[in-house]
Amino acid sequence: MSIQHEIPSYLSSHGIGPWGDYLEQIDRVTPYLGPLARWVETMKRPKRILIVDVPIERDNGTIAHFEGYRVQHNTSRGPGKGGVRFHQDVTLSEVMALSAWMTVKNAAVNVPYGGAKGGIRVDPKTLSPGELQRMTRRYTSEINIIIGPNKDIPAPDVNTNEQIMAWMMDTYSMNQGSTASGVVTGKPISLGGSLGRREATGRGVFVVGCEAAVKRGLDIKGARVAVQGFGNVGGIAARLFSEAGAKVVAVQDHVSTVVRESGLDVVALQEYVLANGSVAGFQGGEEIADRALFWATDCDILIPAALEQQINVDTAHTIRAKIILEGANGPTTPAADDILHDKGVLIVPDVIANAGGVTVSYFEWVQDFSSFFWTEDEINLRLTRIMREAFTSVWQLAEEKKVSLRTAAFIMACTRVLQAREMRGLYP
Ligand code: GLU
Repeated sequence: MSIQHEIPSYLSSHGIGPWGDYLEQIDRVTPYLGPLARWVETMKRPKRILIVDVPIERDNGTIAHFEGYRVQHNTSRGPGKGGVRFHQDVTLSEVMALSAWMTVKNAAVNVPYGGAKGGIRVDPKTLSPGELQRMTRRYTSEINIIIGPNKDIPAPDVNTNEQIMAWMMDTYSMNQGSTASGVVTGKPISLGGSLGRREATGRGVFVVGCEAAVKRGLDIKGARVAVQGFGNVGGIAARLFSEAGAKVVAVQDHVSTVVRESGLDVVALQEYVLANGSVAGFQGGEEIADRALFWATDCDILIPAALEQQINVDTAHTIRAKIILEGANGPTTPAADDILHDKGVLIVPDVIANAGGVTVSYFEWVQDFSSFFWTEDEINLRLTRIMREAFTSVWQLAEEKKVSLRTAAFIMACTRVLQAREMRGLYP
């Protein structure tokens, strides 16, 4: 029996934006799914979409309204899981794509979650601390009906952090009438957060980067690294690479680009960014005005760790790196994937490369449920083991099927999700 369907209008964005990229990635993997391909439409439709109005009173007495979203893409393998993004360019279709990539990521590293994502279309830099708190709390109240420790567990993403998670946890708990630490991850340690969570995504990028370097015969000592995005992912990954002896020769953030042939002092740059909000004006390197030049940096390892679609048909041609580690979600378009494949560039895809964050989120959630907390060494050891295992099994599958690491990761993940889908069966 085949499943009958028509594509709902809001889902038909093939070729456009991150959701279009995601659909294309699913189409590319479908021929490898065998009989499970019968269920593949599941991957192309989010299970549940909630759009909420988030009104707040500004400090000046006016009322502002923001657009908020929470998308639960899939819950076949467990509760929804994924971050919340505050950014002025957030759209429903972006959040849909990010939620779908969470489904694939969680299955690829085999943590027992589905995929979800949330966001508010706002530039948080335009809000006072009080306004930011009121917006976060109102958003949490609005999505309260679909989140919960066993339903859907938010976490930090672009422009959200431990403080935002603390407000979300508190708001949910006040509505429930009891403290529910497992409703979000990425919390402060004092509220049931996990050691190592803040660094986990960057650490995971570093771990798979070392594995990829071995495959390419590249020595990390002396390797040249370029990083786009210098926040929680790019900043930490840059630090770990430079501690391992690599030279971080270029860093680009949302404002500027700094380069230094002999390697930037990453710790000094981190301190500078903490104090000044951006790499712009950093004296320990040379600032370059043309943002596009960043992609042409003469480097061995390139780490996109900012937003989607940065590596596209315009930038892919200029890339000189041997290895790309996708710290961001969806940084490479399918067309750029093809260009880089032809150039022989090794891409470790987002759904593996940046999965360290959600992996330690999983550890945090398990620790909250058992109220028993692990040491940082234990967490980093388990994280490293999961990242290496995921990399190795995806590498083997890629060799076996003669496909890219992205296609292999998607084959592995879609197979896990769709097997669960099939075993559970359709209800009613
Ligand atoms: N926002 C992160 C991601 O894109 C982490 C999600 C989580 O920990 O749930 O993977």
